[in-house]
Amino acid sequence: MEKRELLYSGKAKSVYSTDNPDTMVLEFRNDTSAFDGKKVEQLDRKGMVNNKFNAFIMTKLEEAGIPTHFESLLSDTESAVKRLDMIPLECVVRNVSAGSLCRRLGVDEGIDLDPPTFELFLKNDALGDPMVNEYHARSFGWAEEAHIEIMKKLTFQVNQVLKKMFDDGGLILVDYKLEFGLYKGEVVLGDEFSPDGCRLWDKETREKLDKDRFRQGLGNVIEGYEEVGRRIGVQF
Ligand code: UDP
Repeated sequence: MEKRELLYSGKAKSVYSTDNPDTMVLEFRNDTSAFDGKKVEQLDRKGMVNNKFNAFIMTKLEEAGIPTHFESLLSDTESAVKRLDMIPLECVVRNVSAGSLCRRLGVDEGIDLDPPTFELFLKNDALGDPMVNEYHARSFGWAEEAHIEIMKKLTFQVNQVLKKMFDDGGLILVDYKLEFGLYKGEVVLGDEFSPDGCRLWDKETREKLDKDRFRQGLGNVIEGYEEVGRRIGVQF
């Protein structure tokens, strides 16, 4: 697969076109950012770890019947993916309270949420990704009703698959963020699933093994990601 031109460079990944208009190359970089890009660092091995972690998870999700954009691993830091028309919304499911939910509602971290919550955020860096609801999404044309229903259904299906997988590895899937796009009219999971976009705690000690290690300056960030990977069977 030939990389042609750089189409887009985000905070942690770059996207390249290829000779096939339906396929793109995702390059996972070592750049790590938090707080709307206000904290940025380079972390050794992060591109490789997240690329392989994402490939592993996307493959498991495909096997469970969830359509994803993932096609194949190309190198340590690159994967081939389907080119999607991205829907500018982030879908967040929470099994346990943490992060912005605690700040917004003044609740403690670590409360089990039954049922899990579903939230939508608008992808807009300048506005700090504000929370929106399904009516905002429909009224402003960010996504149509039928597509929102599918995104919600798929996001909860991902919870079924991944909660069990992480639980088997002695981990709690606290929350996670998914992004979807359209491929030939079908809603397909895009972006990435890695410890950058979810929260994972050790089941026994509740030690954080995700990007909160970076956000909170706890150190051993990539060591945490690798530990999670080892426990679920990712080959780095
Ligand atoms: N998240 C993400 N990208 C974002 C915002 C959130 O990947 O732009 C993930 C985050 O890692 C966590 C979940 O979505 O697993 C919920 O994040 P939250 O709303 O608690 O915001 P945060 O505390 O990260 O500001």
